[in-house]
Amino acid sequence: MDFELTPEQELIRRTVRGFAEGEIAPVAEELDRTKAFPYGIVAELGKLGLMGIPFPQSCGGGGGDTLAYALAVEELARVDSSVAITVCAHTSLGTQPVYLYGSEQQKSEWLPQLCSGQRLGAFGLTEPEAGSDAGATRTRARLQDGQWVINGAKQFITNAGTDISGMVSITALTSDGTEGEREISNLIVANGTPGYEQGEPYRKMGWNASDTRPLTFSDCRVLEQNLLGPRGAGFKQFLHVLDIGRIGVAAMGVGLAQGALDQALAYARERRAFGQPISRFQAIQMKLADMSTEIEAARLLVYRAAREKDAGRNFSLSAAQAKLKTGRLAVRCAEEAVQIHGGYGYIEEYPVCRFYRDAKILTIGEGTDEVQQMVIARALGA
Ligand SMILES: Cc1cc2nc3c(=O)[nH]c(=O)nc-3n(C[C@H](O)[C@H](O)[C@H](O)COP(=O)(O)OP(=O)(O)OC[C@H]3O[C@@H](n4cnc5c(N)ncnc54)[C@H](O)[C@@H]3O)c2cc1C
Repeated sequence: MDFELTPEQELIRRTVRGFAEGEIAPVAEELDRTKAFPYGIVAELGKLGLMGIPFPQSCGGGGGDTLAYALAVEELARVDSSVAITVCAHTSLGTQPVYLYGSEQQKSEWLPQLCSGQRLGAFGLTEPEAGSDAGATRTRARLQDGQWVINGAKQFITNAGTDISGMVSITALTSDGTEGEREISNLIVANGTPGYEQGEPYRKMGWNASDTRPLTFSDCRVLEQNLLGPRGAGFKQFLHVLDIGRIGVAAMGVGLAQGALDQALAYARERRAFGQPISRFQAIQMKLADMSTEIEAARLLVYRAAREKDAGRNFSLSAAQAKLKTGRLAVRCAEEAVQIHGGYGYIEEYPVCRFYRDAKILTIGEGTDEVQQMVIARALGA
């Protein structure tokens, strides 16, 4: 495997690092504390061409590859996970289904406004009774007089309820209810469609500046043409979209872990105890050394998954492995970084405090660790 980044990939990493350190780091604590959605930052990311990195320029995207996208997400999460998940959910989950399965009409309607960041895309899979068992969806769409009539509820959906949210792709049962038949299809529902409501944002442990809400559909009518791809293909489609999404979330795990290490190292060199910087104590050095080594190993897993996807190979296994490894690593590195900060790590002014709260969801969202283990074991033939 080639470990060198191309000049384009290096450029994107440098650009996003500069933006994250210059524009996001100074406001991240306040955005988290006030739970304010980062509209200004999203607008700037749009101007930099970072809201549609892996989509062709002909669709309004950045024309980058999956690795370039992963690098950008990693650099964002190194500084702030709320911004990173906003970009990640928008790109991998919101825009990707339209790009992969949309008709020419759907693509020309949605991709330019999504890729420019003028509008955000969301992906509505999870339901109150269907999380890991996502195929157990209860939301129903019945075809009536050329329209789909949608009834049901979605839960924990990212990016659906902001002022700039444009649309959500949802899974729904489109079979007519005859016994045993479970036909799942994907449908596009635009914000503002009567019968589609976004509930109040959840009060979360972390990702406080990102938008997560429950959604309800009550006799919500959309045109028959809002079907995304062939009728009945929804299950296969969302499995593929989740595989892609895992690369992005895994990049978030590496980024958060790296940010925690960077903060911990800088702090350890400054903080003095017993007459010397705490970085001179072997106990602290061993923590830093372990974090650094694990991060490098995890980063290679993420890049491998991205490269496999870009090479057109099957990347399900490596994406699940990368997601499993990096979620756990992010939790562990955030905890070690807090430990190295001592009492200050428990105080919100220090970024590691936020990192600690933001890390946990990485072992749950986009498929829990247990789901990744199921995917990996299945791929191994167990
Ligand atoms: C902040 C946030 C943002 C999110 N954004 C989105 C989004 O944009 N779109 C979206 O569709 N969803 C989103 N989700 C939902 C997320 O993907 C789900 O929460 C996750 O998939 C787990 O589903 P669940 O919460 O229903 O847990 P459950 O599926 O009920 O799982 C509960 C526990 O049981 C375990 N478990 C379940 N089945 C098995 C099994 N077969 N074997 C072993 N263990 C098992 C799980 O691993 C977990 O530990 C988001 C969630 C959060 C919190």
